[in-house]
Amino acid sequence: MTARESLATCSEALYEEPSDVEAVDIDLAVPVDGDVWGSVHSWDVSIGVDGPGSRFVMFLAGCPLRCLYCHNPDTWQMRSGQRRSAADLIEQVRPFARFISVAGGGVTASGGEPLLQSHFVTEFFRGCKELGLHTALDTSGFLGARASDELLDLTDLVLLDIKSYDPDTYRQVTSGEVAPTLRFAQRLAERGNRMWIRFVLVPGLTDAVDNVEGIARFTASLGDAVERVEVLPFHRLGAAKYEALGLRFPLADTLPPDDGLLARVHAQFRHYGLATY
Ligand code: SF4
Repeated sequence: MTARESLATCSEALYEEPSDVEAVDIDLAVPVDGDVWGSVHSWDVSIGVDGPGSRFVMFLAGCPLRCLYCHNPDTWQMRSGQRRSAADLIEQVRPFARFISVAGGGVTASGGEPLLQSHFVTEFFRGCKELGLHTALDTSGFLGARASDELLDLTDLVLLDIKSYDPDTYRQVTSGEVAPTLRFAQRLAERGNRMWIRFVLVPGLTDAVDNVEGIARFTASLGDAVERVEVLPFHRLGAAKYEALGLRFPLADTLPPDDGLLARVHAQFRHYGLATY
């Protein structure tokens, strides 16, 4: 069964509706005793995956999209997170700040969708910058309009997922619209924010030549702001999480891309002079 056929048979009733993003963000952003609170799903440490060097990665809870290949469905709901203050999290990072900096790393706000809690991320990044840390924002860009100029000034690198260029494919993949992401990318380029563009390659779903061509052409139009493109091969490592949540993994029958498909897609990006990994 192809990814598209799998999608057609996927019961949408298995998915919880996205959170009421407006209400949630406003509620959690209200400062209490001078601090800003957020819903944090978990922390992890990674090397070279979520930005340069060794990084503390903060996974924020809540996401308005429902990507078919999402390997973190346990972060979709804000209520799945732990209520934490930005000051508390900065204190958690402080003892490791020197090691992280020397190792050429930093902190990454991921998710879920970090821009769902943009005020919280702003305060967290402000504290991290005071510690001299490199900051990266890992986002779909769907809520890019929520990113204030202040937040983007505090952000050293944006890891921007362009999940598809073709609007219909984007809708199929995410249940959302592609236009906000493209607008956000153009705003970042105009501001001079550094970007790594990321694209998940799913056989039978996102791999159409025209779709990839659209992303490559658009990415090239962003100019020097784009440092690299990362083509991320689809995998099924998140399948167990779906099972644990009582959800059906829509792409359970989809295989990872083979070497030939990966080579074709890499070549499409490189054709535009983009550094592609
Ligand atoms: S944007 Fe990220 S966290 Fe949200 S559904 Fe898509 S892959 Fe999952």
